[in-house]
Amino acid sequence: MVSRIEPGSTIGVLGGGQLGRMFGIAARRMGYRVHVYEPTPDCPTCQVADREFISSYSDRMALAAFAASVDVITFEFENIPAETVNELARCKPTHPSALVLHTCQNREREKLFLRGHGYPHARFALIETPADLEPAIAHVGLPAVLKTADFGYDGKGQVKVTNAADLAAVSLEERGVVEEWVDFACELSAICARGQDGSSVLFPIAENVHSRHILHHSIVPARVPPSVQDEAGRIAASIAEDLNLVGLLAVEFFLTSDGRLLVNELAPRPHNSGHYSFDACVTSQFEQHLRAVTNYPLGSTQLLSPVVMVNLLGDLWRGERAPDWTPILREPRAKLHLYGKAEARPGRKMGHFCVLEESAEVALQTALRIQGILEH
Ligand code: AMP
Repeated sequence: MVSRIEPGSTIGVLGGGQLGRMFGIAARRMGYRVHVYEPTPDCPTCQVADREFISSYSDRMALAAFAASVDVITFEFENIPAETVNELARCKPTHPSALVLHTCQNREREKLFLRGHGYPHARFALIETPADLEPAIAHVGLPAVLKTADFGYDGKGQVKVTNAADLAAVSLEERGVVEEWVDFACELSAICARGQDGSSVLFPIAENVHSRHILHHSIVPARVPPSVQDEAGRIAASIAEDLNLVGLLAVEFFLTSDGRLLVNELAPRPHNSGHYSFDACVTSQFEQHLRAVTNYPLGSTQLLSPVVMVNLLGDLWRGERAPDWTPILREPRAKLHLYGKAEARPGRKMGHFCVLEESAEVALQTALRIQGILEH
């Protein structure tokens, strides 16, 4: 039996963004100390951590000092070199494993994993050299989307190719994946928490609406038949099992117009589409991640109320000036979360808010009304 990491111990978090911040808040609430390792100072997680290690992911001395100062290590961000996680795992228990990170942080490996294990996915082809592009497009058809293999998130590193002119304009600098453009009815995500004993629990399925490739809002419960929700959950739990993952796995899906679920992306960490769980579930995704990495039983993910979560992007800021938050705070059933980021940029996730109502439809109406006021 692997021992538990008890409250009072120190959790090391690689990556200092908002996911680490909300994880850190959950960990502190349960009496843990939090040390964060991140290249940029004054990061969202640093602001809630007991100690910050500010250095690059290749600074072996700093990484060794970080590992020596903690009892268990996790990460909140995929673009950490898997080799760094591998080295840290030699010093301290590290969850999820470097192997899981290695598979999920690169679209090529992720797609090959999905295909190899028989999970449904959009048609794709790998691009190693520019000469692969034309046959790849011929295989997947037009329109298609070209995605870089590494460092892609929130639509970064993606180009839509609709016709021959778009194709001619593509300049290929790195390996990538070409994918068929999916005519989806909606996007869904399933988040599965898996413990060290192999037990797992699923969060309620979220229906996700994106704008400019960035999540705009999530609606929970998702407005799709229970059979579709069950199938999404079953796939997510099965992938977590196949990866032998400890922690959280978020699986993003397309639900096609003809009713098929296709896996789009995997993320072995807390996920933007699970932020609603902080306010609306018995156990949040952040607490669940903590329970998994410290080897405690997982909590109930029961939904306490229908909820809509809306991201607050940097576009809402006027120069340095943050919006007036009154439209959210005067709504008695809305909750505001801000991530403490000093600089607002278009598309940058600065915070989010949740609206909890008796139905998802009412929550959506209220949330979009608030969002409309913030935008004007
Ligand atoms: P990703 O970074 O792959 O999660 O893509 C971000 C968003 O872009 C997705 O959530 C979709 O809204 C859109 N998108 C990505 N790939 C496709 C595709 N093959 N077909 C249609 N929409 C896509």
